[in-house]
Amino acid sequence: MAKVLCVLYDDPVNGMPKRYARDTVPDITRYHDGQTAPTPKAIDFTPGELLGSVSGELGLRRFLESQGHTLVVTSDKDGPNSRFEKELADADVVISQPFWPAYLTAERIAKAPKLKLALTAGIGSDHVDLQAAVKRGITVAEVTYSNSISVAEHVVMMILSQVRNYLPSHEWVKQGGWNIADCVERAYDLEGMHVGTVAAGRIGAAVLRRLKPFDVKLHYTDRHRLPEQVERELNLTWHADVESMVRVCDIVTINCPLHPETEHLFDEKLIAKMKRGAYIINTARGKICDRDAIVRALESGQLAGYAGDVWFPQPAPRDHPWRSMPHQGMTPHTSGTTLSAQARYAAGTREILECFFAGTPIRDEYLIVDGGKLAGVGAHSYSEGDATKGSEEASRYQPA
Ligand code: NDP
Repeated sequence: MAKVLCVLYDDPVNGMPKRYARDTVPDITRYHDGQTAPTPKAIDFTPGELLGSVSGELGLRRFLESQGHTLVVTSDKDGPNSRFEKELADADVVISQPFWPAYLTAERIAKAPKLKLALTAGIGSDHVDLQAAVKRGITVAEVTYSNSISVAEHVVMMILSQVRNYLPSHEWVKQGGWNIADCVERAYDLEGMHVGTVAAGRIGAAVLRRLKPFDVKLHYTDRHRLPEQVERELNLTWHADVESMVRVCDIVTINCPLHPETEHLFDEKLIAKMKRGAYIINTARGKICDRDAIVRALESGQLAGYAGDVWFPQPAPRDHPWRSMPHQGMTPHTSGTTLSAQARYAAGTREILECFFAGTPIRDEYLIVDGGKLAGVGAHSYSEGDATKGSEEASRYQPA
């Protein structure tokens, strides 16, 4: 019988919701490319309820305990005295969400001799040292596509919110003001602007599709080019490298995974090649950008704005400069964990566990590492290596 160690974010400060804002969430059964949404044999939760926090337990307890497995759920994940690190010693499976990542560094993997499966409830397994997982033969899997559209919608919202200066204008209203000139001195229309995505995978391509009706000029760079028919349909300009794309874009949205090739891709040098007054929207991973270079570019006016929901490390310490830098629209890591998304990735987590315990193959599209090498989606989108360095900083976080 297995021990499943699951790390989830804390419940709401006032406890689990007694009533939800809405009664249902739409039932999505298939994604844009034809892939089916998760197909577990059953679920023991109500879609639309809070599953991603500790008491929600991703709806897994009944299923796991009915099969004789042990489920340990905690939010205490950072530092050597954390519950996570203590429970890891005899865990067979670790489940973590990127929003509140349980960093599985090589040191931690070495302390987990029984660990066979690192499961990401969501998308993005950069919180696992993939190199160490390859070496140890640990399977790494994630619920591909489960929240890609959730993020794409968020990106469009953040682009509009930055370009139109929405957040500062809302602040004026809350302060009792009617300061139109203050609100509009940084407000523009999106129409006619050049918007480029770094990566046109599931999220990047969905962002491009959603932006088309805004009459913008669309650009992308990716390691693999989209089919010609898609390029034509969306009137896309492809760039062989990120430098060539950022030079012409007013808005750059980052939608690639974090791996050694993309770590600190947006550094001082690349940002200097962007148009003055460009915006960056980063919902991919905080570490794809150089933290201090972003701050300097906002202060100097090289960037007009920066928005996103991803930081490094997570949770970000109180003194992380992205909390206080100017012209930013940062939130905690939330875009992929709407109640709608949670229903899908909780179901996908269950599907992967069902396969794992039954010894049947996990869908190829869910695999990142398997059999001692990058596999499935991981072999396509990642490069081997480790992007967890510096994650111990997360232990400095103090709740507000
Ligand atoms: P996909 O795997 O569908 O897409 C990733 C794309 O990135 C692929 O097209 C891949 O290219 C491309 N890529 C990889 N490396 C590079 C590179 N060096 N330069 C340009 N393109 C590159 O994943 P999703 O679109 O679903 O998700 C993307 C990322 O978004 C996740 O890895 C995760 O980090 C983040 N994410 C954030 C969430 C949030 O809540 N904020 C939630 C979900 C995801 P190719 O395959 O052609 O090699």
